Amino acid sequence: MEIPVIAFHAAQLLRDAPGASRGHELAAAGALRGGRVELVRIGAGALVRASLEVALELECARCLAPVTAVAPVAFDEIYEQRYDVGSGARLPEEEGDPEAFAISRDHVIDITEAVRQYCEAAAPMQPLCSDGCRGLCPQCGAERSAGECACEPASGDPRWAALAALERSEP
Ligand SMILES: [Zn+2]
Ligand SMILES: [Zn+2]
Repeated sequence: MEIPVIAFHAAQLLRDAPGASRGHELAAAGALRGGRVELVRIGAGALVRASLEVALELECARCLAPVTAVAPVAFDEIYEQRYDVGSGARLPEEEGDPEAFAISRDHVIDITEAVRQYCEAAAPMQPLCSDGCRGLCPQCGAERSAGECACEPASGDPRWAALAALERSEP
C-alpha cells in the first residue's frame, strides 16, 4: 500500500492574514487510514499541522513475517511561500533553506513527501507479528511459533551447536 498524494490548494489561504487557518479531514486511501490537517497562514508561507493514521508495512523483528502496524503520524512543518499569489512572481529569496518544504508555483501544498519521511520515523523499532512470536529456530530457521522443530535446544557454545548441525547434515 502506498501513501496517496496528499495536497491542498492554498491560494486562498495565502491571500489571508497571518493566523488564518483551514482544516481538512482526510478520508482513508491506500496506506492512509485517515486524519486531519490544519493549514495556518504565517508570514513565511504556511504552517502545516498534520495528525494522521498510517498503515506501515513492516517485518516481524523475530520471524520476518510481514506485519501491518497502524501508527499515528503527527508533525508540524513550515511550507515556505516562494511565489506571489497575485502576480505569480518569484518572491525575493530570504536566507531560505533550500531543503525546506515549499509551496509550489501553482500554490499547492503537497505534504506527501513529509508524510513519507515521518512514517519512517514512526515505525516501531521492533515490530512483532504477535506478542508471543517465538521467532525462528537459530539452527534450522523454522518458525518456532508454528511448532517444535527437530533441533536440540541450544546449549553451551553456539559455535559447537553450528558444528554439530553441520555434522548432522553430512551424508
Ligand atoms: Zn513473528
Ligand atoms: Zn530447528
